[in-house]
Amino acid sequence: MLSFKNIAKQFADGTRALHQVSLEIPRGQFCVVLGPSGAGKSTLLRMVNGLALTSEGSVAVDGVEVTPANLYALRPRIGMIHQQFNLVERSTVLANVLAGALPTVPLWRAVFNAYPLEVRRKAARLLHEVGLDQGQLSRRITEMSGGQQQRVGIARAFMLDPTVVLADEPVASLDPKTSRDILDLLKQSSRLHASTVLCTLHQVDLAREFADRIVALRAGEVVFDGAPQALDDTT
Ligand code: ADP
Ligand code: ADP
Repeated sequence: MLSFKNIAKQFADGTRALHQVSLEIPRGQFCVVLGPSGAGKSTLLRMVNGLALTSEGSVAVDGVEVTPANLYALRPRIGMIHQQFNLVERSTVLANVLAGALPTVPLWRAVFNAYPLEVRRKAARLLHEVGLDQGQLSRRITEMSGGQQQRVGIARAFMLDPTVVLADEPVASLDPKTSRDILDLLKQSSRLHASTVLCTLHQVDLAREFADRIVALRAGEVVFDGAPQALDDTT
């Protein structure tokens, strides 16, 4: 469970990016944060992983408040998916997914590529879940299409069955057909791993089609929060 209580964010230069945002997002919900550029979507996500600190209010993951002191403990509970995939390009598909287990694996094991067997099995299972089979595990990221790379990104993000997965414009670099495949996969993954997915999008049609819930932001304020069917064209 993810909760935002009376969040406000004002940057050092005076920009007010969010005003009085309160949300409770239950486990397993695929929640789309919808809004035009500059609405405050990325800032909202950054408050969950500690990349932005709140000016007012608090954010909590499973009841643990997001503060600098708690970030280390929260790391295994938060997965991340990026617009530009953020994979290690020279590395293999499998190695990138294994990296999703880093918060729980001793560093030497990662350095010597000596991940425990159950971690390797989990990575292979996740890759199968996202549609990449045994034959793809040793491929380099540079050989993969954008859609395939985002599948790897999804497998990495869900490695530790996190409470929350943050997906910041995960389909903004993909064509329309691939975008829909990836959103469908993200939604299925959120169900399968009982993870809350907080996914930013700027396309209303995609949000309507895939979201369990839409939170629409405009100029830092929540202008809609509800089921996709309830979102009318005026919001
Ligand atoms: P979105 O993700 O919806 O495009 P952002 O959260 O990136 O919106 O930005 C919200 C507002 O906050 C914008 O006006 C943006 O210019 C501003 N902003 C974002 N980051 C900073 C920062 N580090 N310093 C000052 N203003 C910022
Ligand atoms: P994104 O859409 O991925 O958030 P942006 O271009 O909005 O990318 O922001 C990229 C970086 O620039 C972020 O670290 C953000 O905090 C910062 N930033 C965005 N807007 C401003 C701004 N008006 N002033 C200062 N920094 C900003």
